[in-house]
Amino acid sequence: MKMDALVIGIDSASPYLIQKWIDKLPNIRSFYEVGSHGILKSIVPPESVPAWQCFATGMNPAKIGVYGFLYIGRDRKLKSGRTTPELGCFWDICSKQGMKVGIFNFPGTYPPYPINGFMVSGFPVPHGKTWTYPEALMKRIDSAVGGYEIDVPLSKPSDMKGGEEAHLDQVQRLHDKCLQTAKLLIEWYDPDIFAMTFQGLDLVQHDLWQYMDRPDSPYSNALRDWYINIDNAVGELRKLVGPETNVLLLSDHGSTPCSSALYVNRLLELKGLLTLTGPVKQKGEVYTRLRKWVLKKFSPRTLATLYKLTPEFISHKLTYAAAIERTLQGLIDNIDWNKTLAFSTGGHQAHVYLNYDLMEEQRENDAAKASKKLVSKLCEMMSDLTDPRTGQKVSPVFHFKDQTFKGPYQYDAPDLCVELYSGKEKIQINPRLGTKELWNLDPHFSSIHSRDGFWAAMGPRIKRGVNLDAKLLDMSPTLLKILRVDSTNDFDGQVLDGVIAS
Ligand SMILES: [Zn+2]
Repeated sequence: MKMDALVIGIDSASPYLIQKWIDKLPNIRSFYEVGSHGILKSIVPPESVPAWQCFATGMNPAKIGVYGFLYIGRDRKLKSGRTTPELGCFWDICSKQGMKVGIFNFPGTYPPYPINGFMVSGFPVPHGKTWTYPEALMKRIDSAVGGYEIDVPLSKPSDMKGGEEAHLDQVQRLHDKCLQTAKLLIEWYDPDIFAMTFQGLDLVQHDLWQYMDRPDSPYSNALRDWYINIDNAVGELRKLVGPETNVLLLSDHGSTPCSSALYVNRLLELKGLLTLTGPVKQKGEVYTRLRKWVLKKFSPRTLATLYKLTPEFISHKLTYAAAIERTLQGLIDNIDWNKTLAFSTGGHQAHVYLNYDLMEEQRENDAAKASKKLVSKLCEMMSDLTDPRTGQKVSPVFHFKDQTFKGPYQYDAPDLCVELYSGKEKIQINPRLGTKELWNLDPHFSSIHSRDGFWAAMGPRIKRGVNLDAKLLDMSPTLLKILRVDSTNDFDGQVLDGVIAS
């Protein structure tokens, strides 16, 4: 077997934690020693979808029209970001040129589509639907690993029966099946290129980061042990493909601690920029309560089985993805669009959208000027915030639409993205409506995504000992150059010539 390239995505891996524990990560360390590596600047927003799509195409979200798993379009309808053959992912380019490609577990690759090789979708996948191309592969994987799992019934461990222990157990099981499947796929297909991601680390970091500096906690080493876990998996896969294969390791974004959340739409409301139609009515709130109850009642293992047996229309409503869907739909339903100038969706940063309809109506000829003015007002507002935990002013990082999002889908982009930092911590942005408070000091996650990811590569086409910081968007054009594959993509990233050996 001689594979040309193996790409291993480690969702959410932080270059700083890798550095911290590098002596315990012999496989990743060998990349640093005999290959090239550096910090990898993610895109805005640093979220798995669209980050993996932007990686695979080398293009920014506005060029491929993917802004998230789920986002609100300018038509005020929910849209979901999807990987399609039209995006121009490196695997499609290679596939068209006759190479055999294997694509495994990239978030946002449902539905899978035909390529020269195979594609196994990553989360989210609607239950009961086909998640592989070719379709028959699904059964083969399922029986080989004793019931394949695409995702965990994700939740905050404190909401779950069995707490952290049960959470770690379900993520480990997901990871083990993922690694086992990866090895089988390589064996079954012998592809020229195999690209995959591991999701476990992201799931563990979100909830267990808080214990890292608490020596008294039984989970104080949980994160470190997970980096070791990932390192072992990298070692196993590398051994399988041998030294003649070029191997690229990378994360789609990094991760950073978080202990407060801002109710961003409450802030907009207080500043007179957002008005609600009345008391907030949340459709499907009964499912949010039911989900809470179900999570407390059953162990994750039972839940995984239960979800599989329940009809899609119920099981979907109980997932975390569906809770996000309800929150976004809640914004569409409860905001008074005749009186609202700006609203925001949340997550790892604030995505603020201006209400163009209203601006055009009010200031016919001067909409562009009004937008600009409003954006500066928003920046001022964010800069004025004080973190109630520390009493210190927050440090916002602004990303403006025209500079950040360039391409045919720019219209759907948020007008302003804001990453809010408080000291070394990042503030989670909660878009919930109808809260009286502005802050939540017990946010859903204990770490959230940051833009600093990592990359490392080694193999016959990779130079030794180069330390170079790069952008996520550089990786696809660089990979194609390593593979000596030509492309007509209008990349936003650049080929890292400095790391390619002739
Ligand atoms: Zn991710």
